[in-house]
Amino acid sequence: MPLQLNKEIRYVKGVGEKREKLFNKLNIYTLEDLLLYFPKKYLDLGSLKKISELQIDKYESFLGEVTEYIEEKKINKLTIIKIYVKDETGIIETVWFNQSYIKNILKPKEIFSFSGKIEKGYRFLQIKNPEFEKYDNTLIHTARIVPIYGLCENLSQKVIRNIIYNILEQNQLKFEDNIPIVIREKYNLSEVNFALKNIHFPDNNNSLEIAKKRFKFEEFYFFQLALLFLKKDIEQIEAISINNVSENFEKFKKLLTFNLTNAQERAIKEILDDLQSTKQMNRLIQGDVGCGKTVVAFAAAFVTIKDKFQVALMAPTEVLAYQHYLEAQKLFNDNIKICFLSGSTSKKQKVILLEKISNGEIDLVIGTHAIIQESINFKNLGLVITDEQHRFGVRQRIELTKKGNSPNILVMTATPIPRTLSLVMYGDLDISVIDELPPGRKKILTYAVDETFRKRINNFIKKQILEGRQVYWICPLIEESENLDAKSAIEFSKKLKEGEFKEFNIKCLHGRLSAKDRDKILQEFRDGLINILVSTTVVEVGVNVPNATVIVIENAERFGLAQLHQLRGRVGRGDFQSYCILINNSSSEISRKRMKIMQQSTNGFEVAEMDLKIRGPGDFFGDKQHGIMNFKIVNIFEDIDILKLARQAAIDTIRLELLDEKIITLIKKKYIEKLDNIGL
Ligand code: ADP
Ligand code: MG
Repeated sequence: MPLQLNKEIRYVKGVGEKREKLFNKLNIYTLEDLLLYFPKKYLDLGSLKKISELQIDKYESFLGEVTEYIEEKKINKLTIIKIYVKDETGIIETVWFNQSYIKNILKPKEIFSFSGKIEKGYRFLQIKNPEFEKYDNTLIHTARIVPIYGLCENLSQKVIRNIIYNILEQNQLKFEDNIPIVIREKYNLSEVNFALKNIHFPDNNNSLEIAKKRFKFEEFYFFQLALLFLKKDIEQIEAISINNVSENFEKFKKLLTFNLTNAQERAIKEILDDLQSTKQMNRLIQGDVGCGKTVVAFAAAFVTIKDKFQVALMAPTEVLAYQHYLEAQKLFNDNIKICFLSGSTSKKQKVILLEKISNGEIDLVIGTHAIIQESINFKNLGLVITDEQHRFGVRQRIELTKKGNSPNILVMTATPIPRTLSLVMYGDLDISVIDELPPGRKKILTYAVDETFRKRINNFIKKQILEGRQVYWICPLIEESENLDAKSAIEFSKKLKEGEFKEFNIKCLHGRLSAKDRDKILQEFRDGLINILVSTTVVEVGVNVPNATVIVIENAERFGLAQLHQLRGRVGRGDFQSYCILINNSSSEISRKRMKIMQQSTNGFEVAEMDLKIRGPGDFFGDKQHGIMNFKIVNIFEDIDILKLARQAAIDTIRLELLDEKIITLIKKKYIEKLDNIGL
């Protein structure tokens, strides 16, 4: 009978109703879940030796017959039992603490296998609380590489090992191999049943490595296939093609007050190629904060609009969307018609705008998510741009591609993802990288300090303000009550106003203000009317005020480094020397290390890579994204070589037309359905 993988765990031999709950705690519900519950590590207990061959201080294994001779001692509350075990070469003393029941298990005349650290005893060699099992030609817990599983209370290694071993030993275990044989052969992957047996109970270290490689590869291979599948699905969509892009791009350049950097030119060229073709564009522009992504987006918008199509530009926050709106107005003047649309646009105003959008009077709509959520009908939408794309979900992105006559899609992110990781995360997109900052930018000087520097910081800031510069002062919280240990923006701005910075204009910006109030404050800051903007992380993304030269970050230890880097990117946007001051209120080693990284590197990619190494991908991507990045066995830093191969294999699979119904069902179930509520 073939193995029923969807069999409920309760009916698996050795589980039953009581243990079912324990397994559920480990997220194991079916037989398949159990088999795919891989050990978290292994213990190499070596192979069987004769007692006379055992070496002191080593972990060793041996077979022995339990003798009649038992000693039992009680010292206070401690019961010590010594059971002597022999083989034809010698005797060893096994010592057990507070395990009286052992007498009933280790019965004389029976042969057991033992593993553990060998010590020197009084008369014989000694082994304390060894691993052991009755010997009947199988070895599960001793004298081999034994699996160590992640457990919960009341579930022991022995129990889970026995259950899994039994399943694996049953001859009917025959998993169908999901990886096509062609791919397996090309990439030298072991067959699934061999791998499964050896990932749990490896015959030797070599077969363990082979098994691990196979499952790591498999895990990443299907993830990549899912992304490529989405991409393929999208690629088949015939999109509009834009004409006269080169001429219009030349016109666009005349509007600019600066020359584009080489990297910007390159990215724009790639975009223009996409726009010209009938293939739908799905492109990610990746570039560190301040590299000038907005102007790239505007170039794409301009050429699209000049060919009589409409463009939508979306940003994750109103603040940022509005800033884009202002910049677009400034750049384009009367060249194109622009409107701003967000959740807080009044009903009346909205009705008017929607009408103008649907009859084609408006060329460029700039706003928040509201643009896709509302039932807007574009007359002829040709391009959708989303800024700071990591805030949008894959699903939202796909929603967009289906709007109207399949518009081209451009997404922009400053999330500094190392190249390999961006393949992991954005495998369904083409990527352009802007790896150059506009000329003349000075390096932002970063200092990590503690409270003892308060006075000096204050003086430094006053000096900067008196020179005409402006300051961001970031607090992790909005209000004091949220958490007593961390600075809150509202309280802190009050303190500054009433204390040392009385003579300056200080405003406080946070997410609980109405969009209108936030915009008003930011506008005043842009206009240079505010000296110090105390803020929560609402300014994190994209805000552009070149005259601001200092950013102070309170409780810097509470932020992710990618986030600190984003915040730091608020300064250094003009010609003035800029500064980032990180106030670290933690004395932990890891915080100190992280602050050091920020001081040493102003390159977002580097910062991210180092942060990833310290904290792992979960923290880096945030909880929501963690779901899908939570690979079981693959480690996206250590296994980069396997990742690359698996990605290539996924590409091969599509090219060789090996993507059949079976695989499609599998990747849909495993990944694509999950993408629904996960922002990538
Ligand atoms: P980001 O990539 O972080 O979104 P922005 O698009 O906001 O960066 O650009 C940051 C600043 O750099 C803006 O003030 C913008 O006008 C300016 N800028 C962009 N490209 C250039 C360039 N090629 N030369 C000079 N300044 C530029
Ligand atoms: Mg930006």
